[in-house]
Amino acid sequence: MQIDWERAINDIFIDRLSCPRCGQDQTEMIAGYSRKPSLNGFAPRHRNCPRGDECDARKLITLCEDCARAEVLPGTPVDAALAIETYMLDCRRDLEESLDFLADYWRDEYELSPEDLDHGLEDVDPEAFSDETQWRQRLEEEYLRYHREFRQRNRRVPGAGWRSEYVEEIRALGYDTLLGD
Ligand SMILES: [Zn+2]
Ligand SMILES: [Zn+2]
Repeated sequence: MQIDWERAINDIFIDRLSCPRCGQDQTEMIAGYSRKPSLNGFAPRHRNCPRGDECDARKLITLCEDCARAEVLPGTPVDAALAIETYMLDCRRDLEESLDFLADYWRDEYELSPEDLDHGLEDVDPEAFSDETQWRQRLEEEYLRYHREFRQRNRRVPGAGWRSEYVEEIRALGYDTLLGD
């Protein structure tokens, strides 16, 4: 089952939570983390993942209380407002992962020569770099959406310093970001 992410997010923005497993509207849902691929369909942010249904990365899953119990998903209850915050923090983690990958981790995936140590992923594997850039751009667009939502609701963005730190670090690597001013 593929969850309609756009709709799920839009619903949350108008304070409606609907369980992706039973389809019922809820005022609260359980938000938890799982690596089980069988739960991928219930991961609101897990769309466009290149690994699709097989993906066993740690994912944020949201289910109503009954469904969470049925699927043995541990988690905490969230209302719509808290759900957006949870999504936003999860999105930040993805962006940090992308940042770490661009900074260092990509090197583990290649047989590099000593000269390559001065090079970035864009020199060594332009195609992989372009994929990663597109992926990061999607995450940044998603992030901006949460950010706008917090502003419109006159709510304080949690850990507001995160954004400028991220921008600083990504620019230090020589890359551009949509999150800059
Ligand atoms: Zn349910
Ligand atoms: Zn995935």
